This record gives sequence, structure tokens and C-alpha cells, in this order.
Amino acid sequence: MDRRTYLKTSVGTVAGLGIAGCLDSITGGGDDDQTLTPATNPGFAPFEMKENGELVGFDVDLLNAVIDETEYELGEWQEFDFTSLVPALDNDRADVVAAAMTINDERKQTVDFTDPYYSADQAVLVQEGSDFSPESMDDLAGHDIGAQGGTTGEGLIQDRIENGTYEESNYNTYDNYVFSVEDLENGNIEAVVLDDPVANTFASNRDVEVAFVFETDEEYGFAVQKGADDVRTALNEGLQAVRDNGTYEELTNKWFASE
Ligand code: GLN
Repeated sequence: MDRRTYLKTSVGTVAGLGIAGCLDSITGGGDDDQTLTPATNPGFAPFEMKENGELVGFDVDLLNAVIDETEYELGEWQEFDFTSLVPALDNDRADVVAAAMTINDERKQTVDFTDPYYSADQAVLVQEGSDFSPESMDDLAGHDIGAQGGTTGEGLIQDRIENGTYEESNYNTYDNYVFSVEDLENGNIEAVVLDDPVANTFASNRDVEVAFVFETDEEYGFAVQKGADDVRTALNEGLQAVRDNGTYEELTNKWFASE
């Protein structure tokens, strides 16, 4: 072996081991299990949306800050339709979902949730300046309405279709709330049911307004794979840490400044 080869080999090996060793002590293991693949569904501002092709939002910043407090690393964000997020965890295509996802019993059958990190109610959006000004869920009966598939907003509508308050034919389901709000602006539907923080964002950016808020007392959590207790515990500790060190408040000020 000449000197060059010898140096290359030994430096490569020694440096490689050295870096791996350091990473091990930083990440607490350094194997792939320490990298968590995050998933979300953009189009839900200010929680997750695309800005110039880049995924941004409160959930993105919060999960990054939380992960920074743990021994885990965050992998590359994966984007799914909202209805595919729980299956993505179940099929091991993601380790953590940050998607303004309401903690509920139905989802808990398939995934686990962290402690709550944000509270929301449902709001009803109508066209700005519209003659249609509903004040209650009952007032939506007989009107063309929309929601995003698989959401708690859709659940409220489906409950009322099942009990006969609404007609199935009046309900339009969308792959993404952005499309439903576009249909509302175009007059194709008369109202959209969605989480109130997001309704407020649409109201400030588009020709729509909040007609009323329907209290549902929902709480968002990060969803993880069923039984991933190590991940869930670490995320809960991270959430507590970012609340204690002021980062949580900083992020709410950044993304919910107008409230
Ligand atoms: N919070 C609502 C739910 O969990 C809506 C979430 C969303 O559309 N991203 O169903």
C-alpha cells in the first residue's frame, strides 16, 4: 500500500468512526430509528401551507422546535391528502403527523397522539357580503355546503345528513379546503365548515367571511404510530420544553399575530 492510499483509507475509516461516534452521543444512537419522517397536508394556513414552493407554517416550526428538544432528528417532510395521513402512519410511510389534526377516539383506534398543542372550534365561512348569513348549523339545512374530506368539519355535516337535518345532495366534499373556498368564492357553494383559526386566515386573504363559530372544543395533537411510546413521550417532553422556554409563545405570536 503506498502512503496516499494508506492515508486515505485510515483517515476515511478513523474519521468516519469518529463522526459516527460523535453523532451517536448527540442523537443517542445514531441509527435510522432516530430520524422521524414527518407528514402533513398543506393548504391549511397558518398551520401548513406552501410559500414559493416551500412548506411553512406553525405546525412546521413547532414540530422542528419540539424535535430540537429531543434526541430525534426530523427527516424530509412528506405531503399527503388529509385522509391519507392516518394511513401513512399506519403503513410506516411517516412517523409523525403535524397537520392541525384533532385528537379524537376514532383516530385513536389507529394512531396515538401527543398532548394537545392547540385548541380550535369550527367556523362557517360564507361569501363576503353575501345575503346568506347563517347563525347556526341548522341554518345551513337546504344550502349547498362543503368541507374537506376526512375532517372533523365534514364529520359535523355527516352527522346532520345521518339524522336527516341536511340532504346528502347538498354536501360537497373536497380533497383540500383551498378548493372548497375557491368554490365558495365562485358561488358554486354557499358555505364551508372548517376549523376557526384557518377560517380566519381565509377570511383575511380571500373574498369570504366567517358567518358564525360553532363551539366544538377540539384539540390538536401530533399523531404518531400506534404504540410508538418512545416517540410520543419524547415529543411530549419537547412540547413541554418549548412551552417553558418561550418558543411556543414566540411561534404563536409569529403565526397568529392578528389574534
Ligand atoms: N382539525 C381538523 C381535523 O382534524 C381539520 C384538520 C385539517 O384539515 N388539516 O379534522
